[in-house]
Amino acid sequence: MERIGFIGLGNMGGPMSANQAKGQRKVRAFDLSPDALARAEAAGCEPAASIAGAVADADAVITMLPAGPQVRQVVTRQVIPNARPGTLIVDCSTIDVETAREMSELCHAAGLRYADAPVSGGMVGAEAATLTFMVGCRDDETFAAVEDAVRPMGRAAIRAGGPGAGSAAKICNNMLLGISMIGACEAFALAERLGLDAQRFFEIAAKSSGQCWSVTTNCPVPGPVPASPANHGYEPGFAAAMILKDLKLAQACAASAGASTPMGAQAEGLYALFDRLGYGHKDFSAIIQLIRGDLAELERAS
Ligand code: NAD
Repeated sequence: MERIGFIGLGNMGGPMSANQAKGQRKVRAFDLSPDALARAEAAGCEPAASIAGAVADADAVITMLPAGPQVRQVVTRQVIPNARPGTLIVDCSTIDVETAREMSELCHAAGLRYADAPVSGGMVGAEAATLTFMVGCRDDETFAAVEDAVRPMGRAAIRAGGPGAGSAAKICNNMLLGISMIGACEAFALAERLGLDAQRFFEIAAKSSGQCWSVTTNCPVPGPVPASPANHGYEPGFAAAMILKDLKLAQACAASAGASTPMGAQAEGLYALFDRLGYGHKDFSAIIQLIRGDLAELERAS
């Protein structure tokens, strides 16, 4: 696994491709954004003029794109026609299960190996190379190749099952994350109203049964966790528009699978409102301002 084609160099793909280059791999990178491409070059990747150029002699192609439509377009129109037979395609984007399964089928029919391998860990994990990969693929041999391909970018790759299973696991995980963030925001907002000091409440919740990632890593109030977006004007991090995308994916899955997800539906509704109010670009923890009823404070923090 020496030559990597990397497509999508944004908040996540930028640091992930840089870690591939740090891992002594030859990385040919492509993004529609010239700025993203320039940052990748500065981090040790070779910029490609097109996706065809990035994938032509790659052992593995890694995609980190916004959503299903971009993955479909890139994989079907540019990766499949240009990759060598046997090339491993690893899509790390968070997308719908159906598209992931279809991409797997199309790649298999074209003589390529495919895995959906979305990640958990956020930008902090992407930079520190501590991501967890949730992998859906056809067989153990493909999974072993994926483990090798993603090694410089993370600390764990877990096989969720067959094609689409990685996406399914990610969608379930992020529905839980969206719900838990709203729970954390409500708890901090109530604590404030009850006169509790935010730092004290954080210290108690972090060591009690309310402990979760939304409290201890991405804490929605400034102070307790210096690296959390609340301390930096709620710049993402993980944008509210992205969690809304994932919550919509969860609701679509729930509808087609006949599952009941009432809290997921509530979380989707709240993030849809927040997005419509114009805050989709803010970190998803910024929804605490909607819950406090103080969006003006969010404007001042910008
Ligand atoms: P981003 O918007 O920062 O980056 C996406 C990049 O893809 C952009 O640089 C864009 O220019 C590029 N792009 C779009 N269409 C393209 C095309 N056709 N060809 C080449 N490049 C193209 O998004 P992100 O935050 O890096 O997220 C990427 C994926 O990872 C999403 O699916 C997201 O849900 C998932 N994710 C994000 C986080 C996070 O914390 N940001 C965490 C886990 C998973």
